[in-house]
Amino acid sequence: MPLLAEKLDLFTFNLINEKKMLTTEQISKLDLALHNPEVLIEITSVCNFACTYCSSPFGERKKAHMPMDLFIHIANQLPGLTKQNIRMHVDGEPTMHPNFAEMVQYLNSKDFGVSLATNGSLLGVCRS
Ligand code: SF4
Repeated sequence: MPLLAEKLDLFTFNLINEKKMLTTEQISKLDLALHNPEVLIEITSVCNFACTYCSSPFGERKKAHMPMDLFIHIANQLPGLTKQNIRMHVDGEPTMHPNFAEMVQYLNSKDFGVSLATNGSLLGVCRS
């Protein structure tokens, strides 16, 4: 499995290889993306809501939780890659993950803050 840093190098290589002309603004964004990138981890694609404006509940993607060992594999690569808060959502409701609290604590133990987009329905609910 390629490391995140290797994926960023590949992204840069592809840009150079394709001889893309970038604007100053794009170069600035690329520099930020390469040196302090925003990292989003989709820990689950499951959601307990079905908002009509959201593609998540109606998409054909498999609904699943990320295994804890994969999450740890990703989290262990983050120090040195970014100093930003880690965003723990993409397309599902992050608090649905049975290991959500453990995942937050693991990121905190590596000095990362966490950012969330959540429907808030499970916040404060004990799931042990
Ligand atoms: S709560 Fe969020 S992820 Fe879930 S259906 Fe609504 S908008 Fe989509």
